[in-house]
Amino acid sequence: MKTCHTCKKNLPLTSFGTRSSAKDGKAGWCFDCARDYHAEYRRKNPELIRAIQKRTRQKNHAQYLAYQRYASESRKKMLASPDGIL
Ligand SMILES: [Zn+2]
Repeated sequence: MKTCHTCKKNLPLTSFGTRSSAKDGKAGWCFDCARDYHAEYRRKNPELIRAIQKRTRQKNHAQYLAYQRYASESRKKMLASPDGIL
């Protein structure tokens, strides 16, 4: 059991995320408090969130295109095979 530093509830260790730098290897706040904090942060900082999403999309664009090509070729192969499966 561990006490969440935000809601002060005594909860089982499975209610806490991992944090390698903490002595017990667990985060100081429970999943519910972390979720609420991050939801509030996203609500308060929509431009920042959009900028991060855009940057991530641009960073992964080549990988996305490669996957689309792979998926398209797989579909073509599947349709070309006589029994409709690979
Ligand atoms: Zn909590």
